[in-house]
Amino acid sequence: MQHNFIANAAVPGASGRLIDVIDPSDGQPFEQVQRSTEHDIDQAASAARQCLEALWRHTGAQERGRLLMRLSAAVADHADELAAIEQRDCGKPTRQARADALALARYFEFYAGACDKLHGQTLPGTQDTSVFTWREPHGVTGHIIPWNYPLQIFGRSVGGALAAGNCCVVKPSEDACLSLLRVAQLAAEAGFPAGALNIVTGYGHEVGDALARHPGIDHISFTGSPRVGTLIQQRAAERHCPVTLELGGKSPQIVFADADLDAAVPAIVNAIIQNAGQTCSAGSRVLIDELIYDKLLDRLGAAFEALRVGPAAMDLDLGPLIRASQQQRVWDFLSDAQVAGIPLVAQGRVVDSAPETGFYQAPTLLRDVPPEHRLAQEEIFGPVLCAMPFRDEDHAVALANATRYGLVAGVWTRDGARQFRLARRIRAGQVFVNNYGAGGGVELPFGGVKSSGHGREKGFEALYGFTTLKTVAIRHG
Ligand code: NAD
Repeated sequence: MQHNFIANAAVPGASGRLIDVIDPSDGQPFEQVQRSTEHDIDQAASAARQCLEALWRHTGAQERGRLLMRLSAAVADHADELAAIEQRDCGKPTRQARADALALARYFEFYAGACDKLHGQTLPGTQDTSVFTWREPHGVTGHIIPWNYPLQIFGRSVGGALAAGNCCVVKPSEDACLSLLRVAQLAAEAGFPAGALNIVTGYGHEVGDALARHPGIDHISFTGSPRVGTLIQQRAAERHCPVTLELGGKSPQIVFADADLDAAVPAIVNAIIQNAGQTCSAGSRVLIDELIYDKLLDRLGAAFEALRVGPAAMDLDLGPLIRASQQQRVWDFLSDAQVAGIPLVAQGRVVDSAPETGFYQAPTLLRDVPPEHRLAQEEIFGPVLCAMPFRDEDHAVALANATRYGLVAGVWTRDGARQFRLARRIRAGQVFVNNYGAGGGVELPFGGVKSSGHGREKGFEALYGFTTLKTVAIRHG
């Protein structure tokens, strides 16, 4: 049984109630975590506040950087262990789980180096007044983390917050707590003071809501669904607490007739099957120049048919979905497609040895999806790629922008002028041209527009979000 992690100690939840942890590969429970309540959030927020006032506020940026660097090394040293935990807890194929653990190490490394590069400015004052700005931490930051990339999202959110001098209270998803509880232990061993990093597990509507309402939380970073993002923002608005929201997308891959299809096809496939399509930046729509529509669909179809799905430990192209309700959600979308007569081009295959009790879904390619259909509008969060043709550049841009989301777009064309035009005209936080996420390391700011959210995490930009600006004017004349 796992406990909460508060002030560098394993602490049982106040309610004494537990949540079963299910292995998505076989649907069986194998561990339990605390079903915490607002009492536990209160305890964690107090521990964080105490640490902030007594210690962390007075810890220099260089020292915070050294601690983060030690934690980065510890995570890298424990990458296999963390990957094994993540594989069982989230159903991630081995290589993907290990990549997540190494990405976490890299986040801490990046923010370790960034700590003492966060400067204010000197502003023009008057002859007898000097004016400058300081970047100060918010204080105690709350982090609500989803289940799809616990290690990575923890890294980009908590890494930036600690670097900027905040103390953190983290609420992982009830479906994916285990790796983060282990990372918190590693942080304590690396020398982070008691209270700098606290983890409280439990259900979103209970303990997540308590975190969003808590008066001792000075900033909230949330990654998850738009519905819950709205709730968090409403809660935070009641006490004017700033929030960063990352709420997913319906990201288009736009393929022009002059594109290098040898480069595009594997990238388009990977962008929808990575983590079984449960990725905020999944390229879930492919918009194809009508001149090459059938040709590209043939190639994508062949690639889909070769894909294999199975238990995470088999390390195939795809593992299972996170839970039964997510599997049902994908099935509902696919049955809607059938009712609407949307043609299925190709599907991968779930291997015969996959347990029937696991939450598997074969990757599926659909064509001629009407742009206004919910399959083309809503985030499915499963390995379902929706194809549709476009006539010309204006039509492609109109389709790309025709959802409530604006997270990522991929553009595939050799025409340099068109690359720039599309990058300008697409409403999204990120536009990738002739790649999809290449170079999209921890250094690059990441976030959305429209219903994909607001604020930026990753990169140096995150440090601005995790600080507040104080302007100081000193009259000395
Ligand atoms: P969710 O938004 O319900 O959960 C995300 C986090 O918010 C979890 O930690 C959860 O416990 C917490 N939460 C839930 N209700 C809460 C509340 N009332 N107050 C405070 N915290 C709360 O997401 P989900 O149910 O796990 O997945 C549903 C859909 O959300 C998915 O199908 C997908 O479309 C989307 N999603 C997006 C991302 C992303 O990276 N943008 C990640 C996960 C899920």
